[in-house]
Amino acid sequence: MGQMRLSIGAVSIAALVGLPLIAVTATQFTSYLTTEEVLLGHARRIMSDVADETKRHVTSFLEPAEAAADLTERLAQHDVVTSDSPQDLERYFFEQLRSSPQFAGVYYGTAEGDFFYVKVDDAVPGADFKTKLIRSRDGERHVQLIWRDAAFAEVERRPDPVDPYDPRQRPWFSAALQAERLTWTDPYIFFSSQNPGITVASPVRAKDGTLRGVVGVDIEIADISTFLSGLKIGQHGRAFIMNHNGDVIAFPEPEKIKRPREAEDGSLRFTRIDELDAPISRAAFGALGVAPGDVTVGDLTFTTFTHEGEAHYAVFAPFASERWPWVIGLHVPENDYLGAIKANRRDNALIAGGIALLGCLIGFFIAHGIRRPMAALQRVASRIAAGNYAVETPPRSMFSEVRTTESAFHRMIGALRQREEQNALLTAELRGANQSLETRVCERTAALHAEVEKHRETTEALRKARDAAYAASDAKSAFLSNMSHELRTPLNVISGFAQVLHSRREKEANAREAEELKYIVDSAETLRVLIDDILDLAKIEAGKIDLTLEAVAACETFEQIVSQFRQEIDAKGLTVVCEQAEDTPIQLWVDKRRLQQVLLNLLTNAIKYNVEGGEIRLRTDLLDNGCARLSLLDSGRGIAPEFRDAVFEPFNRAGLENSAVPGTGIGLSFTKRLVELMGGEIGFDSRPGAGSTFWIVLPLAQSESVAARDETAQPSAGPPVIDDGTPRVLCIEDNPMNIRLIESIFASGHARILTANTGREGLEIAAREQLDLILLDINLPDMSGYQVLEQLRAADGPHPVPVVALTAKAMPHEVEEGLGRGFTRYLTKPIDVQELKSTVVSLAAAR
Ligand code: ADP
Repeated sequence: MGQMRLSIGAVSIAALVGLPLIAVTATQFTSYLTTEEVLLGHARRIMSDVADETKRHVTSFLEPAEAAADLTERLAQHDVVTSDSPQDLERYFFEQLRSSPQFAGVYYGTAEGDFFYVKVDDAVPGADFKTKLIRSRDGERHVQLIWRDAAFAEVERRPDPVDPYDPRQRPWFSAALQAERLTWTDPYIFFSSQNPGITVASPVRAKDGTLRGVVGVDIEIADISTFLSGLKIGQHGRAFIMNHNGDVIAFPEPEKIKRPREAEDGSLRFTRIDELDAPISRAAFGALGVAPGDVTVGDLTFTTFTHEGEAHYAVFAPFASERWPWVIGLHVPENDYLGAIKANRRDNALIAGGIALLGCLIGFFIAHGIRRPMAALQRVASRIAAGNYAVETPPRSMFSEVRTTESAFHRMIGALRQREEQNALLTAELRGANQSLETRVCERTAALHAEVEKHRETTEALRKARDAAYAASDAKSAFLSNMSHELRTPLNVISGFAQVLHSRREKEANAREAEELKYIVDSAETLRVLIDDILDLAKIEAGKIDLTLEAVAACETFEQIVSQFRQEIDAKGLTVVCEQAEDTPIQLWVDKRRLQQVLLNLLTNAIKYNVEGGEIRLRTDLLDNGCARLSLLDSGRGIAPEFRDAVFEPFNRAGLENSAVPGTGIGLSFTKRLVELMGGEIGFDSRPGAGSTFWIVLPLAQSESVAARDETAQPSAGPPVIDDGTPRVLCIEDNPMNIRLIESIFASGHARILTANTGREGLEIAAREQLDLILLDINLPDMSGYQVLEQLRAADGPHPVPVVALTAKAMPHEVEEGLGRGFTRYLTKPIDVQELKSTVVSLAAAR
């Protein structure tokens, strides 16, 4: 999507002008609408209130006249007031006028034409009231005029013989008669006072129904106009009252409602509404839409009209009484209510316009103040991008943000320049460092080459030294073997002849020579033992000891040896105990002669290094793994911890090299090799000064281990009985000694060992027999172990038999090569008995 591009000028002008305009217009519009509506409602309410108020006022103004007429009618009917006593009647009328100031006059016209009339009149100075009495006596007519002041005192009196007035001719008289009850006339202009007024008249009848006369009350209604002129309807509002015939009977300017009757006696009439000299009131009536001669309004009517371009509201309300069929009209210019709002709206529009103009100017100003420095910064940035740091000083902006941006820009340029210089320096440094690094790498490579070369030479030298050592060792073994043999031959001669001579001298009783010869015999014997030991050691080291494994009773063998040493034991006062943990004597699967040698070595040490009167104890324990442990405890001098490993080294006497105790340091090393050869282990615990316990662990004869596991099994000596679950292991090995060893290791029943002395024989057995594992030597007489492995692998079925290398090739690269070429495991010689056992058991179990 393309990014829209806006100019700062356009945006700031739009924001500064548009937003205030929108806000002002929106608020103006809504507030105008609401206030106009509210005010219009308000105006209507006020106008209808004013109409109601006016009606109330008029009613309260007129009603007393009705009450007065009614009262007079009833008084006349009951002869309380009669034409027979004109003074009383005059007085009564006078009081009525005084009590109701709106009354203009009260009068009574009789059916005979008599007339009694009291009216408010101040034409004669000092008088307030005027009475006219017209009476006919004996066919003679008397008209009397009397003026009185407010206290009823007579001011003037005179007759008026020319007065032609006959009440019966008057409209009020005939109207009352016609209506047959109290009736109101239409308003009219009183003849004498020329004021607008209205008359209420009521016929007076005798009990028998004959007409006595008509009573009337005149009320001046100019006061209603005065009341209307005092009304406040807005500022310029007006009210007027029309009669049903269109006469305007009340108006704030009372003079406008009177006009002379056409072609008459100079009397006046009301102005009709369509004649009224008040154009707005006329227009209001026009908006009502009724004929001027028949003004009827059913209900409160609200209307609007325009006069001379100005809007007005108007309300028309009827007087809801048939006594007065009048309509009150009110009108008010709209501006009386809405003028202020309109003016305010105009002002607001002006202010908004002003703000918009100002916004325009500010927008231009901002755009101008930002755009120029921006353009300058743009140019500088483009130059920097092109690698030119020459700084152009942009026009100074009056906006602090723009200035801050400019200074930040300048700082950035400075930093860039500095960075570039640093970069140049760093690049130079880097180049230098790189060069020196390259030099050092070259030097180091050369040094490494030299080291590798040196290492290769060292390895080569080591290999040669090792080969020489192997050769020397072989030579030593061969030499010792030969030497002991060569020594033994002359020694046999020496010893033999010494013994012969010794017995001869004894017989001759040559005690001295016999004793000397005995020394020779003993020394020869010692020498023979020493030579035997050395020979044995040499043989064992050369792997030339033969083992004949068989079941041998451990305790029995021990006791036989103890009996051989009885003399030494007794000489030292030692106690020897043979403790057997089990009921059944322990049968070991060992070479009997070698076991004897082992026990002999341990026993001689226990005697030699014991204290006078000490103790020697043999204990036997059956172990879980098909072996037994024989422990030989002594209470002798013990062995210091620092000699723990040394005691098993040949010719090491563990600190007793110069002691009086005879010994060669060969015994324990030879013993250890013998024990291991028979698949066992040797070790000791010792506390210096308290004694030592030398122990050996050797495999049990099969019957022993079976017995240990299954009590129902028959104990029997001899080779182990292999059940079907026992793994079948083929050992391809040319060295019979090693074969023996392996056989003896697994003699306790962990595996059944099949043997082959050559590769070919091994392959034949493997093809024929069901095997679980093959132990394969690499140096075989007819072919290499690797060739055998290849052929075995080639003949493999879906479940290849694991093949474990068992070889003296123990260099790491040889191990690696062996595993790489397909041996399942690679075990080295000398054999680690435990490792071999666990390997065979675990691999066979995994199948
Ligand atoms: P040696 O001919 O000296 O007895 P061995 O190989 O039998 O040679 O024993 C090596 C050394 O071990 C001895 O010289 C002796 O210091 C120590 N030693 C062997 N057996 C005992 C023992 N039962 N008590 C104390 N020291 C012993």
